[in-house]
Amino acid sequence: MTLLNMMQQLLKRYFGYDHFRPMQREIIEHILSRRDALVLMPTGGGKSMCYQLPALMMQGTTVVISPLISLMRDQVEALRSNNIPAAALNSNNSETSNAIIRRECIEGRIKLLYISPERLMLELEDLLHDMPIALFAIDEAHCISQWGHDFRPEYTQLGLLRDRFPEVPMVALTATADKVTRDDILKQLHLKEPRIFLSSFDRPNLSLCVRRGLTKSEKTKAIIEFIHQRPFRNGIIYCQSRKITEQLAVKLKEKDISATFYHAGMTAEERNRTQDDFINDRIQVICATIAFGMGIDKSNVRWVIHFNLPKSIESFYQEIGRAGRDGLPSETLLFYSLEDLILLQKFAEESGQADINKERLNRMKEYAEASICRRRILLNYFGESLTHDCRNCDICLNPPLRFDGTLLVQKALSGLMRCEQHITLHTLIDLLRGTMSAEVAAHGYFKLKTFGVGRDVPARHWKDYLLQMLQLGYFEIAYNEHNHLKITSMGSDVLYGRSKAQLATIIPEEERPENRKRGKKGVVEKQRTTKKISLFSGAVLLDKEESEQLFEELRALRRQLAEEELVPPYVIMSDKVLHLICLHRPSTIEAFGQINGIGEYKKRKYGEIFVKVIKRYGGGTD
Ligand code: ADP
Ligand code: ZN
Repeated sequence: MTLLNMMQQLLKRYFGYDHFRPMQREIIEHILSRRDALVLMPTGGGKSMCYQLPALMMQGTTVVISPLISLMRDQVEALRSNNIPAAALNSNNSETSNAIIRRECIEGRIKLLYISPERLMLELEDLLHDMPIALFAIDEAHCISQWGHDFRPEYTQLGLLRDRFPEVPMVALTATADKVTRDDILKQLHLKEPRIFLSSFDRPNLSLCVRRGLTKSEKTKAIIEFIHQRPFRNGIIYCQSRKITEQLAVKLKEKDISATFYHAGMTAEERNRTQDDFINDRIQVICATIAFGMGIDKSNVRWVIHFNLPKSIESFYQEIGRAGRDGLPSETLLFYSLEDLILLQKFAEESGQADINKERLNRMKEYAEASICRRRILLNYFGESLTHDCRNCDICLNPPLRFDGTLLVQKALSGLMRCEQHITLHTLIDLLRGTMSAEVAAHGYFKLKTFGVGRDVPARHWKDYLLQMLQLGYFEIAYNEHNHLKITSMGSDVLYGRSKAQLATIIPEEERPENRKRGKKGVVEKQRTTKKISLFSGAVLLDKEESEQLFEELRALRRQLAEEELVPPYVIMSDKVLHLICLHRPSTIEAFGQINGIGEYKKRKYGEIFVKVIKRYGGGTD
């Protein structure tokens, strides 16, 4: 049997998968030839397989260094659910269970040992010397870099490994692709002639959508509608502050949505409980600050919403990356408002590294303001270029229509001019709309000719148009002068009729892409916003009511099994596997074992009980 055949056989037998994902095969072959490697793959790309499969094929134990106990626990549970001997050594275990694990390692009975970097250092002289080691895998390797967002001082000691164990191959893995971090990892780990595997960062199953200019209460309303259209679909809402997470969770609960909040101000115990509830599908929605997410392996997060603008594309991509790890269609939605932008600009200005942070924010802004395919912008940021439009972002599905907005720009800018450019955005809108606000009254702006010239345009549309004018460079915000607006020379050209301005049409609510549904043949068709979105939308699956019923029944079965075995439901089976079961409806245990994602062990363990349910719906394949 060739090496490749053997690899494929084990992939099916242990993990139930029929094919390798892009790069996995090359990486595994490289590791099996006992050479060092650095693997850069996006979240959900399938990094763990790159060392788990070699672990099954090599003599001795593969030692996996992982920064978080929750991550280790998840991985160990997933491996054990496939009948692979795995364990984690960490401070959460009792000393007795740690002693048992150590003995099993020495006797060579554990194929994968997960360990924290602190613990690794403690065990360096004893355990690691006494046990046969096949491979070191350093997970979340970016934690070694001070420049990265998750720096862990304990990781810097890992450089010792290469010197202590010169013969043991080492693979470092991360989803952070920037060059500084990459170089830092290579340097600090002393990898020996490492090969770098850089896989595409594209996540085609994530749809991308941005909505701009909504107020806080409008956003909340939009979110409630969004969730109501997606019953049972789990999601995360990232918010700028702890306070917003709490307020939003309250608003959602008032509308009977199963939601809660998560932030660093809670006790560790509260945070663990919340995280656990989410992982185990007991809570549908988490409103969280960026503190939430690292250490979450949950594969069936179906959507991620950003209530506020993130400060960089790196953070944004990490956060949306938590959706759709099982490869099924998943949605992302970013709310973009001028208030957020102003606040983040201010933070950037005041930060220690103003230039870098302003540049990062600008790139994020570019994404939010895109008038070309958003995925192209994202991938471009990671140094990749997409040669075609993605057809899965709001711009691709609904290209912005433009109109001659010269008159609108002139109204706005002449209003500014008459107030000697000493007003903020809000006052400008009041002036245009003819609203007698305190500011307008105090300065006598109501006497100006421009007072009320824009009464025919609703205030929130003005906000949107003004945001566009800012993007187009017709005025700037003077952050150091109370956020007053200043006309640029490009703006003057429009104001004095020397050039014309094109603005994007504001799309009415019901025609927005997230309120539409893709038809069977991929045609975008309108539908009533209240209709619930099929669990199967976007997937290649049958859209029958019966399939949904079966799906719900299997989901309940999975949950029951998960509770019995004290593991999260997705460890028993991913959403994707459940969908495949609904599609193929295997009516024999053998056919059940053919499903992509069902290995030998799960076939024997769950085949009978699943087939029994499926038969009631009339099995398909056998
Ligand atoms: P990462 O660590 O890169 O974020 P994971 O290793 O958690 O990603 O893998 C993400 C998901 O993809 C997991 O559910 C995993 O079982 C699945 N997966 C990995 N390799 C394959 C494969 N060859 N075929 C199908 N699914 C796979
Ligand atoms: Zn696109």
